[in-house]
Amino acid sequence: MSQHVTIEDVTPRDGLQNEPTPVPLAQKLLLIQKLAAAGITHIQATSFVHPKWVPQLADADQLAKDLPPLPGVQYSALIPNLRGYERAVAAGIRHLEFVLSASESFNHRNLNRSLQESLALLEQVTQRALSDGVTLRVGFSVSFHCPFEGRISTQAVVKLARECRAIHPWRLALCDSDGMGFPNQVRDAVRALRDDLRMQNAEIALHFHDTYGRGLSNSLVGLEEGIREFDATTAGLGGCPYCPGASGNLATEDLVDLLHGLGYQTGIDLEKLLDAAEFALQFSSRPYQGHLLRAMRPGTCQKNELRPVP
Ligand code: MG
Repeated sequence: MSQHVTIEDVTPRDGLQNEPTPVPLAQKLLLIQKLAAAGITHIQATSFVHPKWVPQLADADQLAKDLPPLPGVQYSALIPNLRGYERAVAAGIRHLEFVLSASESFNHRNLNRSLQESLALLEQVTQRALSDGVTLRVGFSVSFHCPFEGRISTQAVVKLARECRAIHPWRLALCDSDGMGFPNQVRDAVRALRDDLRMQNAEIALHFHDTYGRGLSNSLVGLEEGIREFDATTAGLGGCPYCPGASGNLATEDLVDLLHGLGYQTGIDLEKLLDAAEFALQFSSRPYQGHLLRAMRPGTCQKNELRPVP
C-alpha cells in the first residue's frame, strides 16, 4: 500500500473564511506561497460563494487570477452551485470541490436549499465540468455529526454518496465540519463506501476539524483503512459559522508530524511548514489551536496568546 499521503491545505479557504477580519489579498497570496514553499502540492485557495454569505472570500475572482503558477502545485476552490462554477472556471481554476451536506438541516442553513436542489445543481455542474475538462471533488459537510440533527448515520452518508455517484463517480470528501465525529464512525463510513458502493480508497478524502481533539485519532483510523488524502489547515485556523463552538480544522503541521513519525511520506518540509503556520497565525483571532508550533516554537504561540481577543 502506498506510503505517500497527499495533504490538501485548505487554510486560505476554510481557515480564513471564519476570521472576523478579512485578510488582504496580498497577504493571502503570500500565505499560499509559503504553503507551496513548504512542499504542499494541493491548496484550496478560495470559495466561489456569494460574497454576502462569506465576505472574507469576496476577493475570490481576483485571488484566483493572481495565483502564482507554481510547478507541481494544484489549486482548488469550493463551489456550491453553477454560478460559483462559472466564476471559478472563468478565473482559471480547474479543480473544484462541490459542497453539499450529509444532513438536510445543514444543507438549508449552510447553502439555503434542499439536498434535492443541491443534487440537481451537482448534475448541472457535472455536465459543464465534463465538457470543460474540469475535475470535481464532492465534499459532504457534517458527514459524522450535524449541529442541528446530531449524529449522522453511516447509512445517510452512503445514501448521499450513492446519489452523487449516480450522477458521476467523482471523488468524495467526508468532512467532519463541527469536529464531533468519532474514529469508529470514520472507519464505518469508509468501509461502507467501499463495500456498498465499490469505491476505491483513492476516491475518498477525509477532512477533519479538531474541536474535541479528535482530528489525529480520526486521521489515524482513515490511514489504517488505506485513505491517503487528508485536508487540514496550517496553524489549525478555521471553524464553521454554523457549528457553534467548532474550533479550527486539524492543524496541517500536527498531521504532517504524525505522518512522518509513522513513516509516511508527504514531500512536506516541516520547518518550512512551521514558518507558514507562524505566518498564518497572525490572521487568527484566537490562540493557537494546534500542538506542534507550541511544542517546537513556544515563543510564537505566547505572543499570539497574549493578544487581546477582539
Ligand atoms: Mg471544514
